[in-house]
Amino acid sequence: MPDSFARNLTNLPMNAPDPLPLEFPDFDNSFATLPEAFYTRLNPQPLPAPYPVGVSDEVAALIGLSPEFLQRPEFAEIFAGNRLMPGAEPLAAVYSGHQFGVWAGQLGDGRAHLLGGLRNPQGHWEIQLKGAGRTPYSRGADGRAVLRSSIREFLCSEAMAGLGVPTTRALCVIGADHPVRREEIETAAVVTRVAPGFVRFGSFEHWSSRDRPLELQQLADYVIDTFRPECRDALNPYDALLRDVSRRTGELMAHWMAVGFMHGVMNTDNMSILGLTLDYGPFGFMEAFDAGHICNHSDHQGRYTYRNQPHVAQWNLYCLAEAFLPLIKRPKQAREAIDETYGDAFEATFERLMRAKLGLRAGLDDDEAFVGETFGLLQQHRPDFTLFFRALSRLPAAVDPQNSTKTDAALRDLFVDRSACDAWLSNWRARQAQTPWDDAERQTAMLASNPKYILRNWLAEKAIRQAKDKDFSEVQRLLTCLRNPCAEQPEFEDYAALPPEWASGLEVSCSS
Ligand code: AMP
Ligand code: MG
Repeated sequence: MPDSFARNLTNLPMNAPDPLPLEFPDFDNSFATLPEAFYTRLNPQPLPAPYPVGVSDEVAALIGLSPEFLQRPEFAEIFAGNRLMPGAEPLAAVYSGHQFGVWAGQLGDGRAHLLGGLRNPQGHWEIQLKGAGRTPYSRGADGRAVLRSSIREFLCSEAMAGLGVPTTRALCVIGADHPVRREEIETAAVVTRVAPGFVRFGSFEHWSSRDRPLELQQLADYVIDTFRPECRDALNPYDALLRDVSRRTGELMAHWMAVGFMHGVMNTDNMSILGLTLDYGPFGFMEAFDAGHICNHSDHQGRYTYRNQPHVAQWNLYCLAEAFLPLIKRPKQAREAIDETYGDAFEATFERLMRAKLGLRAGLDDDEAFVGETFGLLQQHRPDFTLFFRALSRLPAAVDPQNSTKTDAALRDLFVDRSACDAWLSNWRARQAQTPWDDAERQTAMLASNPKYILRNWLAEKAIRQAKDKDFSEVQRLLTCLRNPCAEQPEFEDYAALPPEWASGLEVSCSS
């Protein structure tokens, strides 16, 4: 019996004797096959009297949970961390990282418990509880997450999936009345996250910073064998892995920029090795456009503004490349792995997404300049980013100048200076004329590329306030709406509105 297993026996006897009415597929706990140095086995800490706050039936289906099971009392018990499902081998993983550009040393899952993974026809899914109590990596903190931040992570994970952005998913939020101290006393909640894997850039930095090439290689081999077997065919599989991460990170940044998503804490410990959006904290979606917007109230230097995100991701990739040096050996080669992939992946994906947003049927050489002009207009006049593209989607490519103010009203009304909008629109129409596209077809395509519904802070805040009063219906309604962000959903028309007056001072910080 491994040492740490014996050590953790003391915290094990939480499984109730009666069998769970849960047909759970066989676990495939691949991460737990890594040597014990990579994690600590330990059980979640029970949370008294848990109750479901929000449940994603889509994610439940992904991991094979039946709709009936979601209704059972055991559901909240399991995903609060009070009972283990058969086959679970809970553990907290170690990692390190750079925070706000500075080496922070060892971090690790301070409040996350990986229950295990399973493989099914839809893929490999790992199931992780966030907020289920202290771990050896909690560094003096309480291991808990509050209801507010858990609802935000739950809704945003599913909203991003709805938008087609690579992301970790969220099965549910389970709440409890257990008090948690932040700036004020709040209540505890646990989010169950589901993703192919939770390995971070910082997981690699951890071993290279400790001069432990063996573990570094074991981790790289694990990632390759589990997620990227095609890298094995390369001359240097680690170089291939680094290039894969770099390419996917470039694609991810393009997705974030195209939907106006700001992560808020792009530290290397929050960067997924699989190119997924990971660790939702003080994130935000762009509303009145400002490329310099800081969504994280604790980010005093503005390191993680909207416009900086692609640069920060590249900086983070250089940190990862440095961590890979013991595997790649030649610094020049490690740097090239990023330089030859990241920029191209970002630009190609961003160009594709922006072309779709602008309804450009085919690419022309000048498109980059036109996209630049568009962002210039947005920056100068600050219309709502989402409503701008949504309103544009419905406009005809040609317009009778006599009627244009009426035809273009929905877009023009987003501007104080309507003439600036008119000038840009006439350039857009000139560009449309260069690659003509049937109006109805183009409008359908644009409406499918330009969401109507995003997780605006005021929407999340409204759901959170009601949830604090034990009314969870708004969480579920928002989830339903955000699942189809591009569809017209008349019952949710209000959710597409600009923030109301009461929401103007909303701020989000790292406190979660
Ligand atoms: P974050 O900025 O949320 O990504 O967290 C950075 C590090 O702090 C990670 O190692 C987290 O696990 C840890 N952490 C954050 N909040 C808590 C908490 N309440 N209890 C324990 N660890 C935490
Ligand atoms: Mg984190």
